[in-house]
Amino acid sequence: MATETEAKTKLTMADYRTTYFADWCPGCGDFGIMTAVQMALTELQLPPHRTVIFSGIGCSGKTPHMIKVNGIHTLHGRVLPFAIGAKLANPELEVIAAGGDGDGLGIGAGHFVNTGRRNIDLTYLIHDNGVYGLTKGQASPTLELGLKVKAMPKPNLNAGINPVALALASGYTFIARSYAYDVRHLKDTIVKAIKHHGLALVIIQQPCPTYNDINTKEWYGGEDRIDPKTGKPQPRLYKLEETGYDGIVHNQEEAWPKYVAALNKAQEWGDKIPMGVFYQNDLIPTFDERISKRIPTYLTNPPAKQLISDASGNPVTSVKKMLTELKVTG
Ligand code: SF4
Ligand code: MG
Repeated sequence: MATETEAKTKLTMADYRTTYFADWCPGCGDFGIMTAVQMALTELQLPPHRTVIFSGIGCSGKTPHMIKVNGIHTLHGRVLPFAIGAKLANPELEVIAAGGDGDGLGIGAGHFVNTGRRNIDLTYLIHDNGVYGLTKGQASPTLELGLKVKAMPKPNLNAGINPVALALASGYTFIARSYAYDVRHLKDTIVKAIKHHGLALVIIQQPCPTYNDINTKEWYGGEDRIDPKTGKPQPRLYKLEETGYDGIVHNQEEAWPKYVAALNKAQEWGDKIPMGVFYQNDLIPTFDERISKRIPTYLTNPPAKQLISDASGNPVTSVKKMLTELKVTG
């Protein structure tokens, strides 16, 4: 993450809010996610001009409109290529990508996997509500086999993707889960993800009160599971950090056992759903470190700082030079 704070005065939540009207449905989990992002940016005091949020298409795609930093509402499933491009061109940027489960794990699944291979230093937030909310509630890639949310005529014929396991298999070096209605936990998790030097994923369980009538706030809160002894609901979500689980890889010897432990934890779903950091490995080289080995001036002279035209607008780059460098000899 960016370490230098350029602001002269302390930024407040208000500095990260726009006046754009958030037209999500009443009670939508996207409100909590928006607030948690604004709280995280405030806590980290990230300069708005050096922070950028990209989004895909879907209800979550509106997030950049509400957060007063640089932002681009991109194309369906393509949030990661945009985010990667910005980070590669200007490694000084703090880059956040936000998108839905349909956007990132359906049409964007190829980008989800291949971004993992790069371990590029950015933060990816998946708003996981189990449906395609913007297009009226079809089953998304995370909806479980056999479930039928209210807009579906028949139960789901496809098995749900496990995003935590897929991220582990793809090479993400920070993988966490949080909950849209636990804004403080979500803010803390986003702060950890942004601070992580490498590719960070936060899966956010996001109730969609309009179309997902199964994974509701009441379902996450365990209101259908009353403890006969106390008469109180038994929440499904629990915090890994309160169980002694530690997903952080402290040395090379821990890398494989912690990976396996995270993969095991990733299977928990249903009556017990873990939140918090499943896995964090800072020992894997980031993409900027890999590029810097090949191009030692990459971080001091990245593409965004390079002159591409003279005062008259004529290009100063030379394709000839590049072709000479790439020439295969012998
Ligand atoms: Fe939120 Fe669902 Fe409404 Fe979309 S359809 S704004 S996800 S409640
Ligand atoms: Mg969705």
